Amino acid sequence: MQMKIGDSTIELVQGDITQQDVDAIVNAANSSLLGGGGVDGAIHRAAGSQLLDECRMLGGCPTGSAKITRGYKLRARHVIHAVGPVYRGGQSGESELLANAYRTCLHLASQNNCATVAFPAISTGIYGYPVQDAARIAFDTIIAYLREHPEIELVRYVLYDSRALETHQRVLEQVTGKM
Ligand code: ADP
Repeated sequence: MQMKIGDSTIELVQGDITQQDVDAIVNAANSSLLGGGGVDGAIHRAAGSQLLDECRMLGGCPTGSAKITRGYKLRARHVIHAVGPVYRGGQSGESELLANAYRTCLHLASQNNCATVAFPAISTGIYGYPVQDAARIAFDTIIAYLREHPEIELVRYVLYDSRALETHQRVLEQVTGKM
């Protein structure tokens, strides 16, 4: 599924983010930036040990922010390591932190001439964010950014399983239908 936002495109696909041929892939990291499970482990395995060497020099990253590295063995030139919030019921500032994580990733992409960016569903795995709520925040934030920043040509949102893909398709239709 694809949607045009001005001259930019949002695309939803089912797949593995480590295999994406884009300028930058986003990692759902933890604040240590020293690797973890889920998509983080998959990205470090695919990129090779040099990625961890570079991450060690970054000194971690606060929740709701992101840091950029090279991509090493990945097809992507860069990895943007985003730290989403752990979901604690929704009353602990989680939505703002998640939106800030997405916004920071997009700013870093713009600053580093990354016209094509692939995102996983940040915080919806081990961090427990309800998928539908997280998807709404992600798409609201991405769409608002693309309207102001045509230098980002493509945002590809990569879902690991078909159920998550279906939920995200529904939410993207709702979000864009209201515009
Ligand atoms: P978090 O700790 O931010 O919740 P996780 O890595 O646990 O991060 O999960 C984030 C999302 O990424 C989950 O929806 C999970 O299904 C998905 N995921 C896991 N591995 C991959 C992968 N290789 N490519 C794309 N998405 C993935």
